[in-house]
Amino acid sequence: MVVKRSSKRTIDHVPSRDPVRVPIVLDKRNVATLALRAGRAAKKHREICGLVVDHGAVIRLVETRNKSRRAGSFWIHGGDWKALEKAATLLGSRVIGTFHSHIVSPPVPGPGDIRGAIDGHVMLILDGSSGRLVTWRIRGNRAYRLKHEVRSYFAPKDLPIKRVGP
Ligand SMILES: [Zn+2]
Repeated sequence: MVVKRSSKRTIDHVPSRDPVRVPIVLDKRNVATLALRAGRAAKKHREICGLVVDHGAVIRLVETRNKSRRAGSFWIHGGDWKALEKAATLLGSRVIGTFHSHIVSPPVPGPGDIRGAIDGHVMLILDGSSGRLVTWRIRGNRAYRLKHEVRSYFAPKDLPIKRVGP
């Protein structure tokens, strides 16, 4: 689906509230930084991970510590998760999912990824070798592909004209 810049949806509406129907909008610089980090980690056979925070008009990926000691796996640090959840709430934002990187496999959720996910959560996977990002939603033990857009969010032309609640 292509969202026109002039459509009401992108200007008057908070586009990320329902990530199934409208593309998730990601900040280009945020994604580029994490793709770089994922690439560096992959060279050490490590994955990076974190939370996906919905700020209304844009969604940001916030890296956490990876508690997993095994190569090529991730376990989001519980304390980091709690702290981020609290900070997001204070900002009127919310955690809508997780992200992690893959070292060699394509950016598709594996059985372990699906098992470990909260039902209904968004799951972004970064390919550590190519930097490619694919967005999924996990529901009923299945992964559904979502659409996303990567924008230079802070360029003036992309600033929302009006924010509507909450
Ligand atoms: Zn995975």
